[in-house]
Amino acid sequence: RRHTRFKCDWSSDVCSSDLLLGRRYMAAQSFSSPQGKFMAKERTFSIIKPDATRRNLTGAINAKIEGAGLRIVAQRRVKWKQADAKKFYAVHKARPFYKDLVKFMTSGPIVIQVLEGENAVAKYRQVMGATNPANAEAGTIRKEFAESIKANSVHGSDSPENAKKEIKMCFKAKDRKSTRLNSSHT
Ligand code: ADP
Ligand code: MG
Repeated sequence: RRHTRFKCDWSSDVCSSDLLLGRRYMAAQSFSSPQGKFMAKERTFSIIKPDATRRNLTGAINAKIEGAGLRIVAQRRVKWKQADAKKFYAVHKARPFYKDLVKFMTSGPIVIQVLEGENAVAKYRQVMGATNPANAEAGTIRKEFAESIKANSVHGSDSPENAKKEIKMCFKAKDRKSTRLNSSHT
């Protein structure tokens, strides 16, 4: 094995070696809350979309994420090629907005993230708000920042299974070689 092995403890907030290896990371790990309570740990995949990076909203969106009690355990700013966006949104291939969505997602830099916390998938969907900002609840990211149903500022996985797939799809070989992805802070 050529990768670096980190000392790994599930009471810490993230285990880089597991994220890097793409294994074990979604299972029912647990961690201690600041009050010492044992909680179920989950991860979800997030994207800050081009409309948001263009308007310098990365920090404002991250503040919403962290304010909701989700921890940003991996983050990278990238620019997708057509093939990346097509692959990521393949589930929507048959939808009328697919081509436009791929064009939009490759129109500028995005920030890909792994978020961690109790009930991370459902919690982040709640913080994001409805797909169409017109229908999003007050205080949600999409209500406050989205421009339109297409340029709606963020993506979040819709199930733990898809979170696992999306994390694996977007954080892989490059990261596996790098030992610079942050490890625990707690
Ligand atoms: P969500 O991102 O809330 O999970 P979907 O999975 O249904 O929503 O759609 C994926 C993305 O496709 C949306 O976030 C949005 O960017 C885009 N999209 C969805 N519906 C439309 C639409 N009717 N017109 C244009 N773009 C759309
Ligand atoms: Mg979706």
